[in-house]
Amino acid sequence: MNIYYNCTYVGSEHRSETTQKAKHIAEDILVDPIRGLELVDPVQFTALATEYINLIHDQIYVNAVRTGEPRHLATSQGFTWGPGLFPMAVSHTTGLIAATYEALTNNCTSGSLSSGLHHASYGRGCGFCTFNGLAAAALYAVTAFNATRVLVLDFDAHSGGGTWNIIQRTMPDNVVQIDVTTSRFDSWTPTGESILMYSDVEDYRQSIREAIEYAKTLKPFDFVIYNGGMDPINDGVTEEVISYRERAVREFIGDTPAIFALAGGYTWGGQTYEDITAWHRMTLNTWAQNVKTDSKKGQ
Ligand SMILES: [Zn+2]
Repeated sequence: MNIYYNCTYVGSEHRSETTQKAKHIAEDILVDPIRGLELVDPVQFTALATEYINLIHDQIYVNAVRTGEPRHLATSQGFTWGPGLFPMAVSHTTGLIAATYEALTNNCTSGSLSSGLHHASYGRGCGFCTFNGLAAAALYAVTAFNATRVLVLDFDAHSGGGTWNIIQRTMPDNVVQIDVTTSRFDSWTPTGESILMYSDVEDYRQSIREAIEYAKTLKPFDFVIYNGGMDPINDGVTEEVISYRERAVREFIGDTPAIFALAGGYTWGGQTYEDITAWHRMTLNTWAQNVKTDSKKGQ
């Protein structure tokens, strides 16, 4: 299974978990490899990713991130601006475009060490999210691979209001969003088959179970995009429950082409980058263990 990453992911002047943890995880994979998982550089998809960023975001906003002006828009995600911000943000979307190409071309699963995505809406960033690579991947699946039913499964601690905003503007009939959160930040108003469930920490396992059971009742999807945030752990959900969540998500996906992004997971509350790396490795391990053995690629 190809997992996308390159050093541009961590190339911004602003340093925080969102802009740095991919490097910690990539280095950890090199030291302690995960069987069945290969780190791949998505750089050849940069132009395509930029094209999709321009399709889902306002040009004034995209130019602001690139040039730094107007500054309030360039820094609307909460980062300080520098010339490395734009290529960093583009690269996180590039990895998801590459993963989408891989998953839909080879009928398999893939992922990217991307974060800082789901709060970014059409006209601005928000909550450490600059460009919405999840929405870009969904639009790429719909327009380039004729996917008619795409599921965005967002289990980050926070709601994916930015993704919903872009979906409603660009592909409302093709994308269903199922969102379970432990925080009301960036909440959105579901319509159609989409749902937003707020869960108390104590009820999280049951909420995930209910969300997945609901997803199983819907007509099958052509493509699943999983935003597998680890920040419910920062809110008090146990690693054991998150491990259950990762297995339940992967079992639900089955043979459907699917990709994942890392999403949230922070050092808040005395956690370290080693802790964050271990959390995200739960997703990587679960997906690597479930690579189809009969894949056309023979991997
Ligand atoms: Zn979050």
